[in-house]
Amino acid sequence: MIFNTQIQVRSNLKDIEPYQPGISDDTLRKQFGLQRLVKLNSNENALGPSPLAISAIEQDLHKLHLYPDGGSHLLREAIAAFHGVREEQVFTGNGSDDIIKLVSETFLEEGDEIVVPDPSFSQYQFGANIMRATVKLVPLREDFTYDVERMLEAVTPKTKLLYLCTPNNPTGTLLQGSQFTWLMERLPEHVFVVVDLAYDNYATDEARFHVTEQALAYPNVCYMYTFSKLYGLAGLRVGYALGNEQVWEFVNRVREPFNVNRVGQRGAVAALQDVDHVRRSQELAASSRVQYATLEENGFTVIPSQANFSLVRVGNGRAVFERLKEQGILVRTGFHGLESYVRISYGLPEENEICIAALKAL
Ligand SMILES: *Cc1c(COP(=O)(O)O)cnc(C)c1O
Repeated sequence: MIFNTQIQVRSNLKDIEPYQPGISDDTLRKQFGLQRLVKLNSNENALGPSPLAISAIEQDLHKLHLYPDGGSHLLREAIAAFHGVREEQVFTGNGSDDIIKLVSETFLEEGDEIVVPDPSFSQYQFGANIMRATVKLVPLREDFTYDVERMLEAVTPKTKLLYLCTPNNPTGTLLQGSQFTWLMERLPEHVFVVVDLAYDNYATDEARFHVTEQALAYPNVCYMYTFSKLYGLAGLRVGYALGNEQVWEFVNRVREPFNVNRVGQRGAVAALQDVDHVRRSQELAASSRVQYATLEENGFTVIPSQANFSLVRVGNGRAVFERLKEQGILVRTGFHGLESYVRISYGLPEENEICIAALKAL
């Protein structure tokens, strides 16, 4: 018997490419065996997880037979206290990826449109594609800063969602606070805005957009964060968003009942309190930026970054990716329109040095 996927499977899925993550450590071990690897491909925290998170998780492991709290109440309470908002304004997800998908399922129908900066995080488009919505890509300026005028021009009566990512992945560049205000003063109220702040806790530029009381007062905006980067908990899958509780009431209708797992909730609560790990992680990013800037002396262009990675212009991105891979150095390439670049996540100082030396030797 033949199962005809061409007929049975939803037709829009034919055009969706499964997400291609950076190669995982399990796969790397299979491919490279014991060879020393420098893994700079997924913006993970080279310092490892928050030690407070590890100990909170260890204490909870013997309770794994119990379901997690489906409403993530302790975690949402801790996040609310951290940001000075009410618990009802906090939505938690199985990573921010989960939240992007749930927001897409909440808002989008066939024929709707979303507006997305380009290049940026591919998951925004994925959310639209599964819902048969149309993606309108708006290029960043040549220096990879935001062009909010063009983003506004891309908005039509059919636009349901508009994404902003700051610091932006994969460029590391910022949306200015003044650009956000300019956009919000003009944006029609039927557009729901998702601001992805996955790397905001690495950023230091005072002029950047960051969440203020005024920003939280917009009923049609949510601010999304993750425990995957600075807190070093990518393997736990915990993300959250701050926003309008009336919107979350609807997003909750498409959410799985236990979307944030038990150890994820415990670990995330503890990580929020781990000021020492946070400070060390921020310091590592700051010193790494200085290290990668030295590539400029050798003719590479290093895009000024406010995140935990640098986008580096290398000529042929794919070729450089392969040459580095042969030496056990994993970076990322293949971003839309960025064929001459590689994105390098910050490692430990000695790992950065290995990568920089390899690039200079090419
Ligand atoms: C890494 C990243 C996230 C985090 O995704 P999780 O699902 O929380 O791991 C979100 N947005 C951007 C832009 C990212 O680069």
